[in-house]
Amino acid sequence: MRLVLVGPPGAGKGTQAAVIAQSLAIPHISTGDIFRANVGQGTPLGLQAKEYMDAGTLVPDEVTNAMVADRLAEPDAVAGFLLDGYPRNLGQADVLSQQLDASKTPLDVVVELVVDTEHVVQRLLSRGQGRADDTEEIIRHRLEVYASETEPLVDYYRERGVLRAIDGVGSVDEVTDRILSVLKV
Ligand code: ADP
Repeated sequence: MRLVLVGPPGAGKGTQAAVIAQSLAIPHISTGDIFRANVGQGTPLGLQAKEYMDAGTLVPDEVTNAMVADRLAEPDAVAGFLLDGYPRNLGQADVLSQQLDASKTPLDVVVELVVDTEHVVQRLLSRGQGRADDTEEIIRHRLEVYASETEPLVDYYRERGVLRAIDGVGSVDEVTDRILSVLKV
């Protein structure tokens, strides 16, 4: 199964993506996690990404698209994958769909985790993971970037018939059950 999980920062994408990927036995590919690992290791990719991440803006598409293309070309992604945090704008979505169309392996489902803004701000402020981009000001900016850049993907995928919107408010298990039920697994 080839899946994308989309939703605002703090919607619980990372948590749900890990559980769903495990239960479907497909790799969980989180662009945020890959960038953070590279920043932590001080790689050239990490050095390119850091300033954007700290500001809560998107890393340039050329950088992100190339990184994801490489990751999807790895053998473990042949049987399927769950993308978390990508695509994040229409340009990335077009690049992804061209790549997947070329190999005749289109997306099966795009799951939208729906959580209202005040809810996600509270969740992010209280999660206390010490992420550099989890201050209130940067959180609000990430939410603005989500609304302007990422939210248009919801219509894009709805028009293509692959969107499934899920209520993201509830316990982790409740939300997982809702997602698995729309995947019919
Ligand atoms: P969140 O969803 O909580 O904002 P992520 O871990 O998904 O957290 O992303 C953290 C940061 O990593 C983003 O603010 C952005 O700077 C960068 N990033 C992650 N995914 C992408 C992407 N697809 N395109 C550009 N930048 C990205």
